[in-house]
Amino acid sequence: MTLPVDPAENLAALIRCPSVTPAEGGALAVLQTMLVPLGFAVERPVFSEGGTPDIENLYARRSGNGPHLMFAGHTDVVPVGDEAAWAHPPFAAEVAKGEMYGRGAVDMKGGIACFVAAVARHVEKNGALKGSVSLLITGDEEGPAINGTVKLLEWAAGRGETWDAALVGEPTNPDKLGDMIKIGRRGSLSGVVTVNGRQGHAAYPHLADNPVRGLMALVDALLAPAFDEGTRDFQPTNLEVTSVDVGNPATNVIPAKATATFNIRFNDTWTAESLQAEIHNRLDAASRRKTYRKGRKEPVDYDLVWKDGPSHVFLTRDDRLIDALSGSVHAVTGSMPALSTSGGTSDARFIKDYCPVVEFGLVGKTMHMVDERVALADLETLTQIYQRFLEDWFG
Ligand SMILES: [Zn+2]
Repeated sequence: MTLPVDPAENLAALIRCPSVTPAEGGALAVLQTMLVPLGFAVERPVFSEGGTPDIENLYARRSGNGPHLMFAGHTDVVPVGDEAAWAHPPFAAEVAKGEMYGRGAVDMKGGIACFVAAVARHVEKNGALKGSVSLLITGDEEGPAINGTVKLLEWAAGRGETWDAALVGEPTNPDKLGDMIKIGRRGSLSGVVTVNGRQGHAAYPHLADNPVRGLMALVDALLAPAFDEGTRDFQPTNLEVTSVDVGNPATNVIPAKATATFNIRFNDTWTAESLQAEIHNRLDAASRRKTYRKGRKEPVDYDLVWKDGPSHVFLTRDDRLIDALSGSVHAVTGSMPALSTSGGTSDARFIKDYCPVVEFGLVGKTMHMVDERVALADLETLTQIYQRFLEDWFG
């Protein structure tokens, strides 16, 4: 039986499955046919929750003696957008000038294709694995992410699975393969401030209370001073006001309410809780200031509502894991990757509760774009990096 040692062949088979979230599209079935000949036991649990589509996921394990490595990723992809704008059809895996085109080529069917090829080469070379390898693959990363990684981790852990380390195959390199490993992520927190005023005539402001003035004072306090200067591993915490809403079409009416929405990306100076307390303190202090509200005695009347659950900040401190991965990247590409905590959140934020986690995959430049594509040379290089990592980490 031929093993799936060619990442380009693996990727082509995956791209040809139109697995736009929440559709499985055949992608997990294709992955299963690659993993079974490699000795993996494969299961495909479906998770449901009211108000969200059912999602099929995959957990595969090949057991050996020694530590247990998890590879995590997703086979679902974002919609193609304007299909006519693609130079090559998004689910055809056509190759032109050394690049394979298709939705998911880099985010992140490509990473999965390379990891499977790396395991196949490792098995072909050594006959076995020195430890255990599992693949934790969700079909719900690009969607609501309710019936995906969180439930799959709980499901596997509930059956007694434990892991010593995890590698997430998301595209982490900004420009070229070998640029960047992610070893943590900033936290994220969003809130809505509503200032309650008193509606009235714009010509008689003393009879009204303009909430826009109060909101300006509060927003000022959110924006300055800086929360911190950044830390050894993280860029400075940053707050962006993402919306300011009054919804008042009349120029001669002082409105009754004004709201502002903000999002904070925060570093390990803070926890979500300590940062929430800081925001409350800033708003309370600002509500008593006279800025924009000269003559007003009463503080600004405001409510603060936190949106969704916060994403917690995390930093992986497993030197053996980080060294094995950056050493493998260096050995294959010749460049030493930056250890970064930049960018948005990923499913690593859920995995970190179970084991140390690092992220390394393809070059992200074309992810989510029309003409998403990957250089065949990059597929080969990433496969070699993953194979080397398997050997070094188990070794
Ligand atoms: Zn992704």
